[in-house]
Formats: sequence, C-alpha cells, structure tokens
Amino acid sequence: MSEAATAKRIADPGLDQSIEKLTPDRIEATILRVINQENSARLKTFVDTCVHCALCSEACHYFMSYDRNPRYAPVGKVKNTLWEMIRCKGKVSKEFIRDAAQIAYTECNLCKRCVHFCPFGIDTAYLMTIVRRICHLLGVTPQYLQDTSHSHSATFNQMWVKDDEWMDTLQWQEEEARDEFPGLRIPLDKEGADIMYSVIAPEPKFRAQLIYQAAAIFHEAGSDWTMPASPGWDNSDMAMFSGDAEMMGRLKRKHFDTARRLRVKKIVMGECGHAYRSVYDMGNRWLGYKEMPIPIIHAIQFYCELLRAGKIKVGSKIKELCTFHDPCNTVRGMGLHEMGREVARAFCPNMVEMHPNREHNYCCCAGGGVINCGPPHKMTRVHGNSIKAEQLKATGAKIVIAPCHNCHGGLEDIIHHYKLDMKLMFLGDIIFEHMQKPGAVE
Ligand code: SF4
Ligand code: SF4
Ligand code: SF4
Repeated sequence: MSEAATAKRIADPGLDQSIEKLTPDRIEATILRVINQENSARLKTFVDTCVHCALCSEACHYFMSYDRNPRYAPVGKVKNTLWEMIRCKGKVSKEFIRDAAQIAYTECNLCKRCVHFCPFGIDTAYLMTIVRRICHLLGVTPQYLQDTSHSHSATFNQMWVKDDEWMDTLQWQEEEARDEFPGLRIPLDKEGADIMYSVIAPEPKFRAQLIYQAAAIFHEAGSDWTMPASPGWDNSDMAMFSGDAEMMGRLKRKHFDTARRLRVKKIVMGECGHAYRSVYDMGNRWLGYKEMPIPIIHAIQFYCELLRAGKIKVGSKIKELCTFHDPCNTVRGMGLHEMGREVARAFCPNMVEMHPNREHNYCCCAGGGVINCGPPHKMTRVHGNSIKAEQLKATGAKIVIAPCHNCHGGLEDIIHHYKLDMKLMFLGDIIFEHMQKPGAVE
C-alpha cells in the first residue's frame, strides 16, 4: 500500500484483535469464496471496465474534505482493498485485511454518489460491500458495528430492546399521547389492519417521542394501523452493513413475515434511509424476492399520500428559512426527492436548496453503518465531511429537514463540530407540530 493508504490506523479491538486469529489459508479461501462463488458478472464487469481515470474522486465527500487525499477517492478505496485481493488471488496478509476493513467500514458510507460521476457507472459502494463481506466472514468487523449486528441476531432488533421494554415503551407513549388526544390508541397486533408501522430500534430506546408523534399523525389521519407486539417490529439492518448477509436476510424475512402474520395490506416504515434500502435493494435481493411480499413504503411517501388525500391538513407554517437534505437511500436509491420536498413545502414556504442537491447531494457521512462504528471512528467522519458543513452553511437556513435517522446523527455532529446555527427536524416533527389537530384537547 502507498503511504497515503496506510496513513492512519484507528485503534478498534474488532479490527486489531480479530486479525490475530487469521491464517493465510483462511484469508485466501474466504476471499476466493466471496469473489468466485458469491459474485460474478457484475464484479468482473466493474473490475474489467475501470480505466483508472479517477473522475469519481470529486464525488466523494471524504476525498473533498481530506485535501484530495487519494486514499479517500472511490477508486483509491477499491485499489487499496478489493483490486489487491483479486490481483494477489487472495494471498494478502492479515494486516492488509485489517486496513481493508477500516477503509470499507469506516471510510465509505456506501452512499453511491460516485456512481453518478463514473462514466461507466461503476458502483464503488457495491465493491465496498464485497470487501465488508470478506471481512465479516473473517471476523474482522469494527466492534461497535458488530455489537449491533449481534443484537440483531439475539433479539431481532439492533439495540438489545427486550420484548417487555418494547411493549412498555409503546404503552407509555400511548398514555402520554392520550393526554393530548383522548381517543388515541397504539393498536398492537391488530390483525387485518390496513397498515403495519415499523420503526428502527433507536426509536423505543432513545427517541420514544417519535412514536408518540407518529401515533398522533395516524390518529389525526384516521388510519387503520397497528404495530407488532413481538420481534419483527425493528426494520433496521446493521447486519446488511457488517457484511452478515445471512442475518440481513433473516431480519428482512422476519419483518415481512410479521406483516403477513398480521394480514395487513401494507407496511409503512419510519423515517430511516438505510432500513428502506434493506428492503428495496439488499435484503430483498439476498432473499431472492422478485416482488415485495407485502407493499412497503417509506414515511416520505406515506406523509405525501396523507397530504394529497387531505387526511392531514396544514395548521400553521414555519417562518424560518428551511433546507432539505436528500438522504442517499431514499433519494439516490429510490427517487423520493420531490415527494420529500412536497411535504416540506406544505409547511415551510421559505425553502432554500443546498447545492448540489437531489441525487447529487452530499452524504451526511453517517450512513452505511459508519456512525455505528462508534466513538473510535467519529472524528474520521466529522473531518471527512467539512464539505457538507460548507454546503449547509451556504444555504443560510435555520432548519435542516432530514427524513432519515442516520442523517440526523451525522448532521448533528457536523452542525455541532462546525458550529453551524441550525436546527434539525424530521418531516414527522414538522407535521406533528404544524398540522391541524381536531382530535386534540385544547
Ligand atoms: S462514501 Fe459514497 S462517494 Fe465515497 S466512495 Fe463511498 S459510495 Fe462513493
Ligand atoms: S470507477 Fe469509474 S470514474 Fe472511477 S476511476 Fe474507475 S472508471 Fe474512472
Ligand atoms: S445516513 Fe442519510 S445521507 Fe448518510 S448514507 Fe444514509 S441516507 Fe445517505
């Protein structure tokens, strides 16, 4: 590796200690298995097509924020990981695996911005997921990320939320909400409801008020909805990011099986980008789903439908200047940028765009499981996104709307570190605070 490629090692027991168990034979066999048996035409096409032109470099917020260090260029990340594994036919050292893991897990958000800059459409995010897959099978994964993945396999949610804790939290939020909306219920396991609402585990763990807000929106819209009383309620998927494809598949199957058990007509997912990606892009493909077993939509689509149908109505408008952050997974991945703006504009007449925006928007630098790699890697991503800070600052906005949990985490850190005078909001925050509430007590 070049000096730039090895410039900085972040201590992480999941990377440093795990490589001690590796043997050359195991490394070689694992790399060859993943390259030859789990990937074929797409990988070969990308490897054979790349002309090393580096046009993808400026797509990457890490590259732009780290003084154009080639280590952080998309093509640099592939060169220092997967290409070398292929070139050496799997004969790489355990130190190489350790460094490749740091690059793939903590220096790439799998945000796919670079796909739009490559003349051949080469998908570096996909190539980094192959590196992660190899590292996962070798047991070399950042410790914090691996902990969330273990939690998924032990509890079917990423935050070790126990079943009674889940039920207690829903009951608590229902009780709180009934003070404001006397007739409100959070229906549990209601068979045959129109909608199953699923969330990510950090909601009951840290942000229970978001469940209150969602319940209020469902209530005011007159929706027939339910939440599952048993595992299958967490739609997040850190196994997708750790490279544990088997667990990713089990999680997605559980989520859909829960909806099937409840015989709901569709699933509405909360405001999370990666959870949505796990059902439309990765988990579904691993499971071989041609079609979704049950229709499934993101909260952006749901809110947009409610507004268009007049089921929720604007009560008041936000006066401050607002801007809209396009989450990679809902926008580059699923094209929900205009729907997101439609909802935002209904409540925020003073909107200003970031530049670039929509499918060219810069990532928050938290996604792809990077924020879940925990405190050891925090400053890599914060310093790796000064370009986002500049982009935000240039808008002059006081409110940033970001309909994705990870984006919130990443942008919060950016706003704090770069001392930006901005407040973050979910679309649900805005709707809850500014919709008409005929069902609420005065
Ligand atoms: S962080 Fe995004 S732009 Fe950078 S290499 Fe990864 S996928 Fe490409
Ligand atoms: S991935 Fe595409 S843009 Fe980047 S170096 Fe290769 S061919 Fe050029
Ligand atoms: S957290 Fe948000 S901006 Fe970052 S990769 Fe995920 S969707 Fe994209």
